Amino acid sequence: MMKHNGRKIVIVGGGIAGLCAAVYALKCGYETEILELHDMAGGLAMSWRRGPYTFETCLHWLIGSNPHGEFHEQWKEVFDIDRLKFINPREFVRIETEKGDCLRIYTNADLLEAELMARAPQDEETIHDFIHSMRSLGKFKMLDPSGNLAQNWLPMLQDVPMFPLLRRLGKMSGEEYAQRFSDPLLRQFFSTGDVGRLTAIAMVLSLGWMNESNAGYCIGGSQAMIRLIEEKIRSLGGRIRCKARVQQILVERDLAVGVQLESGERVLADWVISAADGHATIFNMLGGKYVDPTIRKIYDERNTFASYLQVSLGLAMNLSGEPAMLTRIIEDPIRIDPETETSHVAFRFFHYDPTFAPPGKTAVTCVLPTRNHKYWDDMRNSDPAQYRIEKARVAEAVINVLEKRIPNIRKAIEVIDVSTPASVIRYTGNWKGSMEGWLMEPGGGIKPLPNTLPGLGRFMMVGQWIMPGGGLPSGPMTARPAIKTICRQDHVLFDVHPEPEAAVA
Ligand SMILES: Cc1cc2nc3c(=O)[nH]c(=O)nc-3n(C[C@H](O)[C@H](O)[C@H](O)COP(=O)(O)OP(=O)(O)OC[C@H]3O[C@@H](n4cnc5c(N)ncnc54)[C@H](O)[C@@H]3O)c2cc1C
Repeated sequence: MMKHNGRKIVIVGGGIAGLCAAVYALKCGYETEILELHDMAGGLAMSWRRGPYTFETCLHWLIGSNPHGEFHEQWKEVFDIDRLKFINPREFVRIETEKGDCLRIYTNADLLEAELMARAPQDEETIHDFIHSMRSLGKFKMLDPSGNLAQNWLPMLQDVPMFPLLRRLGKMSGEEYAQRFSDPLLRQFFSTGDVGRLTAIAMVLSLGWMNESNAGYCIGGSQAMIRLIEEKIRSLGGRIRCKARVQQILVERDLAVGVQLESGERVLADWVISAADGHATIFNMLGGKYVDPTIRKIYDERNTFASYLQVSLGLAMNLSGEPAMLTRIIEDPIRIDPETETSHVAFRFFHYDPTFAPPGKTAVTCVLPTRNHKYWDDMRNSDPAQYRIEKARVAEAVINVLEKRIPNIRKAIEVIDVSTPASVIRYTGNWKGSMEGWLMEPGGGIKPLPNTLPGLGRFMMVGQWIMPGGGLPSGPMTARPAIKTICRQDHVLFDVHPEPEAAVA
Protein backbone atom coordinates (compact mmCIF):
# COMPACT_ATOMS: atom_id res chain seq x y z
CA MET A 1 0.00 0.00 0.00
CA MET A 2 1.48 3.36 -1.03
CA LYS A 3 1.59 6.58 0.96
CA HIS A 4 -1.48 8.53 -0.16
CA ASN A 5 -0.95 12.07 -1.45
CA GLY A 6 -4.54 13.17 -0.79
CA ARG A 7 -5.67 13.32 -4.43
CA LYS A 8 -7.79 10.98 -6.49
CA ILE A 9 -7.62 9.93 -10.16
CA VAL A 10 -10.50 8.16 -11.85
CA ILE A 11 -9.62 6.15 -14.96
CA VAL A 12 -12.18 5.31 -17.64
CA GLY A 13 -11.36 1.87 -19.07
CA GLY A 14 -9.46 -1.14 -17.75
CA GLY A 15 -7.52 -2.14 -20.87
CA ILE A 16 -3.74 -2.30 -20.75
CA ALA A 17 -3.43 1.51 -20.86
CA GLY A 18 -5.89 2.13 -18.02
CA LEU A 19 -4.20 -0.51 -15.88
CA CYS A 20 -0.74 0.92 -16.55
CA ALA A 21 -1.97 4.44 -15.73
CA ALA A 22 -3.34 3.09 -12.45
CA VAL A 23 -0.02 1.53 -11.45
CA TYR A 24 1.90 4.72 -12.21
CA ALA A 25 -0.68 6.84 -10.38
CA LEU A 26 -0.70 4.58 -7.32
CA LYS A 27 3.08 4.60 -7.17
CA CYS A 28 2.95 8.39 -7.01
CA GLY A 29 0.49 8.26 -4.12
CA TYR A 30 -2.83 8.91 -5.89
CA GLU A 31 -6.00 7.18 -4.79
CA THR A 32 -6.99 5.41 -8.00
CA GLU A 33 -10.21 3.90 -9.27
CA ILE A 34 -10.64 2.22 -12.66
CA LEU A 35 -14.11 1.98 -14.17
CA GLU A 36 -14.45 -0.77 -16.77
CA LEU A 37 -17.58 -1.53 -18.78
CA HIS A 38 -16.89 -5.28 -19.26
CA ASP A 39 -17.03 -7.85 -16.47
CA MET A 40 -13.26 -8.28 -16.58
CA ALA A 41 -10.23 -6.11 -17.25
CA GLY A 42 -8.10 -6.32 -20.40
CA GLY A 43 -10.07 -4.63 -23.19
CA LEU A 44 -8.59 -5.92 -26.43
CA ALA A 45 -6.00 -7.88 -24.43
CA MET A 46 -8.55 -10.63 -23.99
CA SER A 47 -9.22 -14.34 -24.22
CA TRP A 48 -12.37 -16.31 -23.48
CA ARG A 49 -13.10 -19.81 -22.35
CA ARG A 50 -15.44 -22.22 -24.16
CA GLY A 51 -15.61 -25.66 -22.58
CA PRO A 52 -12.06 -26.89 -22.02
CA TYR A 53 -10.59 -24.42 -24.54
CA THR A 54 -9.29 -20.85 -24.14
CA PHE A 55 -9.35 -18.62 -27.20
CA GLU A 56 -6.86 -15.76 -27.30
CA THR A 57 -7.58 -12.73 -29.43
CA CYS A 58 -4.62 -10.45 -28.84
CA LEU A 59 -1.18 -11.66 -28.04
CA HIS A 60 1.07 -12.66 -30.93
CA TRP A 61 4.18 -10.97 -29.60
CA LEU A 62 5.06 -8.79 -26.66
CA ILE A 63 7.81 -6.28 -27.23
CA GLY A 64 10.04 -6.28 -24.15
CA SER A 65 9.77 -10.00 -23.43
CA ASN A 66 13.56 -10.49 -23.26
CA PRO A 67 14.94 -9.61 -19.78
CA HIS A 68 17.93 -7.97 -21.50
CA GLY A 69 15.92 -6.41 -24.31
CA GLU A 70 14.45 -3.03 -25.11
CA PHE A 71 11.29 -2.07 -23.18
CA HIS A 72 11.65 -4.81 -20.56
CA GLU A 73 12.57 -2.28 -17.85
CA GLN A 74 9.48 -0.22 -18.66
CA TRP A 75 7.26 -3.26 -18.17
CA LYS A 76 8.99 -3.86 -14.84
CA GLU A 77 7.82 -0.45 -13.67
CA VAL A 78 4.26 -1.71 -14.18
CA PHE A 79 4.37 -5.35 -13.11
CA ASP A 80 6.62 -8.27 -12.45
CA ILE A 81 7.01 -9.36 -16.07
CA ASP A 82 9.64 -11.91 -15.05
CA ARG A 83 6.87 -14.06 -13.58
CA LEU A 84 5.62 -14.71 -17.12
CA LYS A 85 7.02 -17.58 -19.15
CA PHE A 86 7.84 -16.51 -22.70
CA ILE A 87 8.40 -18.62 -25.74
CA ASN A 88 9.88 -17.51 -29.04
CA PRO A 89 8.57 -19.59 -31.95
CA ARG A 90 11.18 -20.54 -34.55
CA GLU A 91 8.81 -19.63 -37.36
CA PHE A 92 6.75 -16.46 -37.08
CA VAL A 93 4.42 -17.55 -39.87
CA ARG A 94 4.31 -20.10 -42.65
CA ILE A 95 2.63 -18.96 -45.85
CA GLU A 96 1.24 -21.63 -48.16
CA THR A 97 -0.67 -21.74 -51.41
CA GLU A 98 -3.14 -24.47 -52.29
CA LYS A 99 -0.76 -25.55 -55.05
CA GLY A 100 1.88 -26.45 -52.44
CA ASP A 101 4.22 -23.44 -52.56
CA CYS A 102 5.43 -22.56 -49.06
CA LEU A 103 7.44 -19.71 -47.50
CA ARG A 104 8.64 -19.85 -43.90
CA ILE A 105 9.15 -16.50 -42.18
CA TYR A 106 11.67 -17.45 -39.52
CA THR A 107 12.17 -15.24 -36.50
CA ASN A 108 15.92 -15.79 -36.73
CA ALA A 109 17.54 -13.51 -39.32
CA ASP A 110 20.12 -16.09 -40.47
CA LEU A 111 17.47 -18.75 -41.08
CA LEU A 112 15.21 -16.26 -42.81
CA GLU A 113 18.00 -15.05 -45.06
CA ALA A 114 18.84 -18.65 -46.07
CA GLU A 115 15.17 -19.38 -46.79
CA LEU A 116 14.75 -16.26 -48.94
CA MET A 117 18.02 -16.80 -50.81
CA ALA A 118 17.06 -20.38 -51.63
CA ARG A 119 13.72 -19.21 -53.02
CA ALA A 120 14.80 -16.10 -54.91
CA PRO A 121 18.60 -15.88 -55.42
CA GLN A 122 18.00 -13.22 -58.07
CA ASP A 123 16.88 -10.87 -55.23
CA GLU A 124 20.20 -11.22 -53.42
CA GLU A 125 20.83 -7.50 -52.95
CA THR A 126 17.30 -6.74 -51.79
CA ILE A 127 17.27 -9.70 -49.40
CA HIS A 128 20.58 -8.65 -47.84
CA ASP A 129 19.27 -5.13 -47.43
CA PHE A 130 16.09 -6.43 -45.76
CA ILE A 131 17.96 -8.78 -43.41
CA HIS A 132 20.45 -6.04 -42.58
CA SER A 133 17.53 -3.69 -41.76
CA MET A 134 15.94 -6.38 -39.58
CA ARG A 135 19.19 -6.90 -37.65
CA SER A 136 19.81 -3.16 -37.25
CA LEU A 137 16.29 -2.27 -36.13
CA GLY A 138 16.32 -5.09 -33.58
CA LYS A 139 18.75 -2.84 -31.65
CA PHE A 140 16.44 0.18 -31.88
CA LYS A 141 16.01 2.01 -28.56
CA MET A 142 12.61 3.51 -27.94
CA LEU A 143 12.64 7.05 -26.63
CA ASP A 144 10.69 7.79 -23.46
CA PRO A 145 7.83 10.07 -24.62
CA SER A 146 7.72 11.48 -21.07
CA GLY A 147 11.44 12.26 -21.08
CA ASN A 148 13.24 15.38 -22.29
CA LEU A 149 16.42 15.59 -24.33
CA ALA A 150 18.56 15.16 -21.22
CA GLN A 151 16.75 11.93 -20.33
CA ASN A 152 16.68 10.60 -23.89
CA TRP A 153 20.17 11.51 -25.07
CA LEU A 154 21.67 8.04 -24.62
CA PRO A 155 19.03 6.06 -26.57
CA MET A 156 18.99 8.83 -29.18
CA LEU A 157 22.74 8.54 -29.58
CA GLN A 158 22.46 4.77 -29.96
CA ASP A 159 19.72 5.23 -32.57
CA VAL A 160 21.62 7.83 -34.64
CA PRO A 161 23.23 5.28 -37.02
CA MET A 162 19.70 3.98 -37.78
CA PHE A 163 18.21 7.37 -38.67
CA PRO A 164 18.80 7.12 -42.46
CA LEU A 165 17.24 3.62 -42.48
CA LEU A 166 14.29 4.77 -40.37
CA ARG A 167 13.74 7.74 -42.66
CA ARG A 168 13.85 5.53 -45.76
CA LEU A 169 11.48 2.88 -44.38
CA GLY A 170 9.28 5.50 -42.71
CA LYS A 171 8.34 6.99 -46.08
CA MET A 172 7.45 3.63 -47.61
CA SER A 173 4.32 1.53 -47.10
CA GLY A 174 4.45 -2.24 -46.63
CA GLU A 175 2.92 -2.47 -50.10
CA GLU A 176 5.75 -0.41 -51.65
CA TYR A 177 8.37 -2.37 -49.72
CA ALA A 178 6.89 -5.60 -51.07
CA GLN A 179 7.44 -4.48 -54.67
CA ARG A 180 11.19 -4.74 -54.17
CA PHE A 181 11.00 -8.54 -54.03
CA SER A 182 10.22 -10.93 -56.84
CA ASP A 183 9.12 -13.80 -54.55
CA PRO A 184 5.31 -13.66 -54.76
CA LEU A 185 4.80 -15.05 -51.24
CA LEU A 186 7.24 -12.60 -49.68
CA ARG A 187 5.45 -9.83 -51.54
CA GLN A 188 2.17 -10.98 -50.05
CA PHE A 189 3.69 -11.11 -46.58
CA PHE A 190 4.51 -7.40 -46.70
CA SER A 191 1.47 -6.19 -48.60
CA THR A 192 -1.59 -8.08 -47.35
CA GLY A 193 -4.32 -6.20 -45.50
CA ASP A 194 -3.44 -3.43 -43.09
CA VAL A 195 0.23 -4.50 -43.04
CA GLY A 196 0.45 -3.19 -46.61
CA ARG A 197 -0.87 0.21 -45.50
CA LEU A 198 1.47 0.59 -42.52
CA THR A 199 4.88 2.16 -42.80
CA ALA A 200 7.43 -0.51 -43.71
CA ILE A 201 9.12 0.24 -40.36
CA ALA A 202 6.34 -1.60 -38.54
CA MET A 203 6.98 -5.08 -39.92
CA VAL A 204 10.76 -4.81 -40.26
CA LEU A 205 11.03 -3.51 -36.67
CA SER A 206 8.79 -6.30 -35.35
CA LEU A 207 10.92 -8.91 -37.14
CA GLY A 208 14.02 -7.21 -35.77
CA TRP A 209 12.72 -7.58 -32.22
CA MET A 210 11.80 -11.21 -32.89
CA ASN A 211 15.37 -11.82 -34.06
CA GLU A 212 16.52 -10.47 -30.67
CA SER A 213 14.04 -12.84 -28.92
CA ASN A 214 12.40 -9.67 -27.59
CA ALA A 215 8.91 -10.16 -29.03
CA GLY A 216 7.85 -13.44 -27.47
CA TYR A 217 4.52 -15.00 -26.60
CA CYS A 218 3.72 -15.49 -22.91
CA ILE A 219 2.09 -18.70 -21.75
CA GLY A 220 -1.50 -17.91 -20.75
CA GLY A 221 -1.70 -15.19 -23.42
CA SER A 222 -2.56 -11.55 -22.84
CA GLN A 223 -4.78 -12.27 -19.83
CA ALA A 224 -1.80 -13.77 -17.99
CA MET A 225 -0.11 -10.39 -18.05
CA ILE A 226 -3.33 -8.49 -17.36
CA ARG A 227 -3.88 -10.59 -14.21
CA LEU A 228 -0.39 -9.76 -12.94
CA ILE A 229 -1.00 -6.03 -13.49
CA GLU A 230 -4.35 -6.29 -11.70
CA GLU A 231 -2.55 -8.01 -8.84
CA LYS A 232 -0.06 -5.14 -8.72
CA ILE A 233 -2.86 -2.57 -8.64
CA ARG A 234 -4.58 -4.32 -5.75
CA SER A 235 -1.31 -4.66 -3.84
CA LEU A 236 -0.84 -0.90 -4.18
CA GLY A 237 -4.36 -0.26 -2.87
CA GLY A 238 -6.03 0.58 -6.20
CA ARG A 239 -9.60 -0.29 -7.12
CA ILE A 240 -10.90 -1.85 -10.36
CA ARG A 241 -14.65 -1.77 -10.80
CA CYS A 242 -16.08 -3.89 -13.60
CA LYS A 243 -19.55 -3.58 -15.18
CA ALA A 244 -19.19 0.17 -14.66
CA ARG A 245 -19.85 1.94 -17.98
CA VAL A 246 -18.99 5.64 -17.96
CA GLN A 247 -21.57 7.71 -19.77
CA GLN A 248 -20.30 11.20 -19.19
CA ILE A 249 -17.18 12.99 -18.03
CA LEU A 250 -18.29 15.63 -15.54
CA VAL A 251 -16.88 19.10 -16.14
CA GLU A 252 -17.13 22.26 -14.04
CA ARG A 253 -15.66 25.54 -15.29
CA ASP A 254 -13.69 23.63 -17.92
CA LEU A 255 -12.10 21.28 -15.40
CA ALA A 256 -12.85 17.57 -15.31
CA VAL A 257 -14.21 16.75 -11.85
CA GLY A 258 -15.33 13.13 -12.21
CA VAL A 259 -17.55 10.85 -14.24
CA GLN A 260 -21.14 9.71 -14.34
CA LEU A 261 -21.88 6.05 -14.85
CA GLU A 262 -24.70 4.62 -16.92
CA SER A 263 -26.38 3.72 -13.61
CA GLY A 264 -26.50 7.42 -12.71
CA GLU A 265 -23.83 7.10 -10.03
CA ARG A 266 -21.26 9.89 -9.94
CA VAL A 267 -17.62 9.27 -9.12
CA LEU A 268 -15.76 12.47 -8.28
CA ALA A 269 -12.00 12.92 -8.56
CA ASP A 270 -9.23 15.48 -8.87
CA TRP A 271 -8.25 14.15 -12.28
CA VAL A 272 -9.99 12.13 -14.98
CA ILE A 273 -7.97 9.95 -17.36
CA SER A 274 -9.71 8.35 -20.30
CA ALA A 275 -8.09 5.07 -21.31
CA ALA A 276 -11.18 4.23 -23.37
CA ASP A 277 -11.86 4.69 -27.07
CA GLY A 278 -10.77 8.15 -28.26
CA HIS A 279 -13.79 8.93 -30.40
CA ALA A 280 -16.31 7.99 -27.70
CA THR A 281 -14.36 9.97 -25.10
CA ILE A 282 -14.20 13.17 -27.14
CA PHE A 283 -17.54 13.11 -28.94
CA ASN A 284 -19.82 11.21 -26.53
CA MET A 285 -18.52 11.38 -22.98
CA LEU A 286 -17.51 15.03 -23.46
CA GLY A 287 -20.19 15.87 -26.04
CA GLY A 288 -17.68 17.20 -28.61
CA LYS A 289 -17.18 20.41 -26.60
CA TYR A 290 -13.39 20.25 -26.38
CA VAL A 291 -12.34 19.90 -29.99
CA ASP A 292 -10.13 22.08 -32.18
CA PRO A 293 -9.37 21.81 -35.92
CA THR A 294 -6.37 19.53 -35.24
CA ILE A 295 -8.45 17.00 -33.36
CA ARG A 296 -11.31 17.27 -35.84
CA LYS A 297 -8.86 16.61 -38.69
CA ILE A 298 -7.39 13.58 -36.93
CA TYR A 299 -10.82 11.99 -36.42
CA ASP A 300 -12.07 13.01 -39.89
CA GLU A 301 -9.07 11.98 -41.91
CA ARG A 302 -6.79 9.45 -40.23
CA ASN A 303 -7.25 5.80 -41.05
CA THR A 304 -7.89 3.17 -38.41
CA PHE A 305 -6.94 -0.50 -38.27
CA ALA A 306 -9.72 -2.74 -39.55
CA SER A 307 -12.09 -4.60 -37.27
CA TYR A 308 -12.30 -8.39 -37.45
CA LEU A 309 -14.19 -11.61 -37.05
CA GLN A 310 -12.52 -14.38 -35.11
CA VAL A 311 -13.42 -17.98 -35.77
CA SER A 312 -12.16 -20.10 -32.88
CA LEU A 313 -12.13 -23.89 -32.95
CA GLY A 314 -11.55 -26.39 -30.16
CA LEU A 315 -10.04 -29.46 -31.78
CA ALA A 316 -9.63 -32.87 -30.18
CA MET A 317 -6.41 -33.32 -32.12
CA ASN A 318 -2.73 -32.93 -31.41
CA LEU A 319 -1.48 -30.32 -33.89
CA SER A 320 1.99 -29.86 -32.47
CA GLY A 321 3.50 -30.58 -35.88
CA GLU A 322 1.95 -27.41 -37.29
CA PRO A 323 3.59 -23.98 -37.20
CA ALA A 324 2.41 -21.46 -34.59
CA MET A 325 0.84 -19.45 -37.37
CA LEU A 326 -0.15 -20.57 -40.86
CA THR A 327 -1.50 -18.39 -43.64
CA ARG A 328 -3.30 -20.24 -46.44
CA ILE A 329 -3.63 -18.35 -49.72
CA ILE A 330 -6.77 -19.76 -51.27
CA GLU A 331 -7.98 -19.76 -54.85
CA ASP A 332 -11.67 -19.19 -54.10
CA PRO A 333 -11.84 -16.21 -51.76
CA ILE A 334 -14.12 -16.34 -48.70
CA ARG A 335 -16.88 -13.76 -48.64
CA ILE A 336 -16.85 -12.34 -45.13
CA ASP A 337 -19.60 -9.77 -45.61
CA PRO A 338 -21.08 -7.85 -48.56
CA GLU A 339 -18.05 -5.53 -48.76
CA THR A 340 -15.28 -7.93 -47.79
CA GLU A 341 -13.62 -10.93 -49.38
CA THR A 342 -10.35 -12.53 -48.48
CA SER A 343 -8.02 -15.01 -50.10
CA HIS A 344 -5.67 -15.02 -47.07
CA VAL A 345 -6.80 -17.13 -44.17
CA ALA A 346 -4.46 -17.04 -41.17
CA PHE A 347 -4.67 -19.74 -38.50
CA ARG A 348 -3.00 -19.80 -35.11
CA PHE A 349 -2.40 -23.25 -33.62
CA PHE A 350 -1.93 -22.79 -29.87
CA HIS A 351 -0.26 -26.18 -29.33
CA TYR A 352 2.58 -24.37 -27.55
CA ASP A 353 0.30 -23.07 -24.79
CA PRO A 354 -0.71 -25.95 -22.51
CA THR A 355 -3.11 -23.67 -20.58
CA PHE A 356 -5.37 -23.31 -23.62
CA ALA A 357 -6.48 -26.92 -24.16
CA PRO A 358 -6.26 -30.31 -22.45
CA PRO A 359 -3.40 -32.62 -23.51
CA GLY A 360 -3.86 -33.98 -27.02
CA LYS A 361 -6.27 -31.16 -27.97
CA THR A 362 -5.63 -27.78 -29.58
CA ALA A 363 -7.18 -24.32 -29.55
CA VAL A 364 -7.15 -22.84 -33.06
CA THR A 365 -8.10 -19.30 -34.04
CA CYS A 366 -8.54 -17.49 -37.33
CA VAL A 367 -8.82 -13.69 -37.54
CA LEU A 368 -10.61 -12.29 -40.60
CA PRO A 369 -10.26 -8.52 -40.96
CA THR A 370 -13.18 -6.40 -42.19
CA ARG A 371 -13.94 -2.69 -42.27
CA ASN A 372 -17.65 -3.38 -42.52
CA HIS A 373 -18.28 -3.15 -38.77
CA LYS A 374 -21.67 -1.59 -39.44
CA TYR A 375 -22.99 -4.66 -41.25
CA TRP A 376 -22.26 -6.90 -38.27
CA ASP A 377 -23.28 -4.44 -35.59
CA ASP A 378 -26.57 -3.53 -37.30
CA MET A 379 -27.44 -7.17 -37.95
CA ARG A 380 -26.75 -8.21 -34.36
CA ASN A 381 -29.09 -5.47 -33.15
CA SER A 382 -31.86 -5.84 -35.72
CA ASP A 383 -31.85 -9.51 -36.70
CA PRO A 384 -30.15 -11.82 -34.16
CA ALA A 385 -31.28 -14.97 -36.00
CA GLN A 386 -29.66 -13.85 -39.26
CA TYR A 387 -26.57 -12.80 -37.29
CA ARG A 388 -26.23 -16.37 -36.02
CA ILE A 389 -26.68 -17.77 -39.53
CA GLU A 390 -24.04 -15.44 -40.93
CA LYS A 391 -21.59 -16.35 -38.19
CA ALA A 392 -22.14 -20.04 -38.89
CA ARG A 393 -21.63 -19.45 -42.64
CA VAL A 394 -18.24 -17.80 -42.07
CA ALA A 395 -17.19 -20.52 -39.60
CA GLU A 396 -18.07 -23.17 -42.19
CA ALA A 397 -15.99 -21.42 -44.85
CA VAL A 398 -12.99 -21.28 -42.49
CA ILE A 399 -13.37 -24.95 -41.54
CA ASN A 400 -13.42 -25.86 -45.24
CA VAL A 401 -10.09 -24.08 -45.74
CA LEU A 402 -8.58 -25.90 -42.78
CA GLU A 403 -9.96 -29.25 -43.89
CA LYS A 404 -8.19 -28.93 -47.24
CA ARG A 405 -4.95 -28.59 -45.32
CA ILE A 406 -5.57 -31.05 -42.46
CA PRO A 407 -7.92 -33.83 -43.59
CA ASN A 408 -10.39 -35.20 -41.02
CA ILE A 409 -10.27 -32.00 -39.01
CA ARG A 410 -14.04 -31.69 -39.04
CA LYS A 411 -14.53 -34.84 -36.98
CA ALA A 412 -12.25 -33.45 -34.28
CA ILE A 413 -14.19 -30.20 -33.77
CA GLU A 414 -15.57 -29.94 -30.24
CA VAL A 415 -16.18 -26.19 -30.04
CA ILE A 416 -16.93 -23.52 -32.64
CA ASP A 417 -17.02 -19.89 -31.53
CA VAL A 418 -17.37 -16.82 -33.75
CA SER A 419 -16.88 -13.24 -32.58
CA THR A 420 -17.51 -10.29 -34.91
CA PRO A 421 -16.94 -6.53 -35.02
CA ALA A 422 -20.18 -6.29 -33.01
CA SER A 423 -18.42 -8.25 -30.24
CA VAL A 424 -15.40 -5.92 -30.32
CA ILE A 425 -17.68 -2.89 -30.07
CA ARG A 426 -19.83 -4.42 -27.32
CA TYR A 427 -16.95 -5.59 -25.11
CA THR A 428 -14.37 -2.83 -25.68
CA GLY A 429 -16.23 0.19 -27.11
CA ASN A 430 -13.54 0.68 -29.76
CA TRP A 431 -14.54 3.00 -32.60
CA LYS A 432 -15.52 1.05 -35.74
CA GLY A 433 -14.51 -2.09 -33.85
CA SER A 434 -10.90 -1.26 -34.65
CA MET A 435 -8.35 -3.82 -33.48
CA GLU A 436 -5.48 -1.40 -32.80
CA GLY A 437 -6.60 2.21 -33.20
CA TRP A 438 -4.80 4.40 -35.75
CA LEU A 439 -2.75 2.92 -38.57
CA MET A 440 0.90 3.97 -38.44
CA GLU A 441 1.03 5.18 -42.03
CA PRO A 442 4.04 6.26 -44.12
CA GLY A 443 5.23 9.78 -43.38
CA GLY A 444 3.41 9.91 -40.05
CA GLY A 445 6.47 9.38 -37.84
CA ILE A 446 6.38 7.47 -34.55
CA LYS A 447 4.98 10.35 -32.52
CA PRO A 448 2.08 10.14 -30.06
CA LEU A 449 -0.98 12.35 -30.61
CA PRO A 450 -1.93 15.07 -28.09
CA ASN A 451 -3.01 13.56 -24.75
CA THR A 452 -4.99 16.59 -23.61
CA LEU A 453 -8.00 18.36 -25.11
CA PRO A 454 -8.04 22.09 -25.84
CA GLY A 455 -9.66 24.10 -23.06
CA LEU A 456 -10.18 21.16 -20.69
CA GLY A 457 -8.14 20.99 -17.51
CA ARG A 458 -7.43 18.09 -15.15
CA PHE A 459 -8.06 15.61 -17.94
CA MET A 460 -5.74 13.32 -19.90
CA MET A 461 -6.05 10.56 -22.49
CA VAL A 462 -3.94 7.40 -22.76
CA GLY A 463 -3.93 4.22 -24.84
CA GLN A 464 -3.92 3.13 -28.45
CA TRP A 465 -5.89 6.18 -29.63
CA ILE A 466 -2.97 8.37 -28.52
CA MET A 467 -0.21 6.20 -29.99
CA PRO A 468 -0.61 5.37 -33.70
CA GLY A 469 0.19 1.70 -34.30
CA GLY A 470 -1.37 0.73 -30.96
CA GLY A 471 -0.17 -2.51 -29.39
CA LEU A 472 0.32 -3.41 -25.75
CA PRO A 473 3.42 -1.19 -25.32
CA SER A 474 1.21 1.81 -26.15
CA GLY A 475 -0.23 1.28 -22.65
CA PRO A 476 2.87 2.15 -20.60
CA MET A 477 4.19 4.45 -23.35
CA THR A 478 1.17 6.74 -23.02
CA ALA A 479 0.36 6.18 -19.33
CA ARG A 480 3.81 7.16 -18.09
CA PRO A 481 3.87 10.66 -19.64
CA ALA A 482 0.26 11.30 -18.58
CA ILE A 483 0.97 10.57 -14.91
CA LYS A 484 4.23 12.48 -15.11
CA THR A 485 2.35 15.56 -16.35
CA ILE A 486 -0.24 15.19 -13.60
CA CYS A 487 2.50 14.89 -10.95
CA ARG A 488 4.25 17.98 -12.32
CA GLN A 489 1.03 20.02 -12.15
CA ASP A 490 0.29 18.77 -8.62
CA HIS A 491 3.90 19.19 -7.42
CA VAL A 492 4.06 15.49 -6.61
CA LEU A 493 7.28 13.54 -6.98
CA PHE A 494 7.11 11.20 -10.00
CA ASP A 495 8.79 8.08 -8.68
CA VAL A 496 7.81 4.89 -10.48
CA HIS A 497 10.81 2.62 -10.12
CA PRO A 498 10.04 -1.10 -9.96
CA GLU A 499 9.87 -1.14 -6.15
CA PRO A 500 9.54 2.52 -5.22
CA GLU A 501 8.73 4.51 -2.15
CA ALA A 502 6.27 7.19 -3.30
CA ALA A 503 6.69 10.57 -1.73
CA VAL A 504 5.02 13.94 -1.93
CA ALA A 505 7.40 16.76 -2.80
C1 LIG B 1 -6.53 -9.49 -33.06
C2 LIG B 1 -5.58 -8.61 -32.32
C3 LIG B 1 -4.24 -8.95 -32.25
C4 LIG B 1 -3.35 -8.15 -31.56
N1 LIG B 1 -2.05 -8.55 -31.44
C5 LIG B 1 -1.20 -7.83 -30.67
C6 LIG B 1 0.12 -8.29 -30.40
O1 LIG B 1 0.52 -9.37 -30.82
N2 LIG B 1 0.94 -7.53 -29.64
C7 LIG B 1 0.55 -6.34 -29.13
O2 LIG B 1 1.34 -5.69 -28.43
N3 LIG B 1 -0.71 -5.87 -29.36
C8 LIG B 1 -1.58 -6.58 -30.11
N4 LIG B 1 -2.85 -6.13 -30.33
C9 LIG B 1 -3.21 -4.76 -29.95
C10 LIG B 1 -3.50 -4.58 -28.49
O3 LIG B 1 -4.37 -5.60 -28.04
C11 LIG B 1 -4.19 -3.22 -28.30
O4 LIG B 1 -3.51 -2.22 -29.02
C12 LIG B 1 -4.19 -2.83 -26.83
O5 LIG B 1 -4.66 -3.90 -26.04
C13 LIG B 1 -5.07 -1.60 -26.65
O6 LIG B 1 -5.11 -1.26 -25.29
P1 LIG B 1 -5.90 0.02 -24.79
O7 LIG B 1 -5.89 -0.06 -23.31
O8 LIG B 1 -5.36 1.24 -25.43
O9 LIG B 1 -7.40 -0.12 -25.35
P2 LIG B 1 -8.52 -1.19 -25.04
O10 LIG B 1 -7.94 -2.53 -24.87
O11 LIG B 1 -9.57 -0.98 -26.05
O12 LIG B 1 -9.07 -0.74 -23.62
C14 LIG B 1 -10.06 0.23 -23.45
C15 LIG B 1 -10.91 -0.20 -22.29
O13 LIG B 1 -11.88 0.80 -22.01
C16 LIG B 1 -13.11 0.18 -21.73
N5 LIG B 1 -14.16 1.15 -22.00
C17 LIG B 1 -14.50 1.69 -23.20
N6 LIG B 1 -15.53 2.57 -23.05
C18 LIG B 1 -15.83 2.58 -21.73
C19 LIG B 1 -16.78 3.27 -20.96
N7 LIG B 1 -17.63 4.13 -21.51
N8 LIG B 1 -16.83 3.04 -19.62
C20 LIG B 1 -15.97 2.17 -19.02
N9 LIG B 1 -15.04 1.47 -19.72
C21 LIG B 1 -14.96 1.69 -21.05
C22 LIG B 1 -13.14 -1.01 -22.65
O14 LIG B 1 -14.06 -1.99 -22.23
C23 LIG B 1 -11.68 -1.48 -22.60
O15 LIG B 1 -11.47 -2.41 -21.55
C24 LIG B 1 -3.79 -6.94 -30.97
C25 LIG B 1 -5.13 -6.61 -31.01
C26 LIG B 1 -6.03 -7.45 -31.66
C27 LIG B 1 -7.48 -7.10 -31.64
